[in-house]
Amino acid sequence: MRILIVYDNNAKPGFKSGWGFSCLIEPDNKIDSNKKILFDTGDNPDKLLFNLNKIGINPKDIDILIISHEHWDHAGGMPGILKVNPDIKVIMPGAFSGLTEVEAGLGVYTTGPLLSSVVEQSLIVKTRKGSIVITGCAHPGIRRILKVAYKLGRIHGIIGGFHGFSDYEVLKDIELIAPCHCTQHIREIKNRFPENYKELIAGSVIEI
Ligand SMILES: [Zn+2]
Ligand SMILES: [Zn+2]
Repeated sequence: MRILIVYDNNAKPGFKSGWGFSCLIEPDNKIDSNKKILFDTGDNPDKLLFNLNKIGINPKDIDILIISHEHWDHAGGMPGILKVNPDIKVIMPGAFSGLTEVEAGLGVYTTGPLLSSVVEQSLIVKTRKGSIVITGCAHPGIRRILKVAYKLGRIHGIIGGFHGFSDYEVLKDIELIAPCHCTQHIREIKNRFPENYKELIAGSVIEI
């Protein structure tokens, strides 16, 4: 499976950066190995479409759009994707009531809506090494999100925005730690987990 970072506050040369987060997931699954899922859209439709093109993804080929929460830096690019791909299946934060596989056999689950200052869902993507948890801003807190994700078994990695997260010990058993976007304590996380920390910015790719 692959996860392509489409949008982040920082970007590789040739990509556009912007305050926000978006990634494209090509999961390992039983029903259709070509399914593509876009998680969040960054804050700007033009930059989103530019970066998708740059990374080699035709927005018309994306099957499912999942929005973590309705803040502008995650949902702001939606009009761009809906304009070129009006038939895309959209899953908003309240679409499911709890931990649910997004489609049967897809290998991608939502935590369901977790309530904090905003309603937010995170994703859990099954891989042969364990789950990869993907967060938008993690407003409900990484600890709460991981507690839900552990119901599906071992967690290999966690990526996305960690916001003000600082209870670092909850990451100690996780092999791939890739905080980006709004994470306030990236340097501290990197110092505590130098072996497991991975820098992710727009244009980065994770393959498992
Ligand atoms: Zn955010
Ligand atoms: Zn937010």
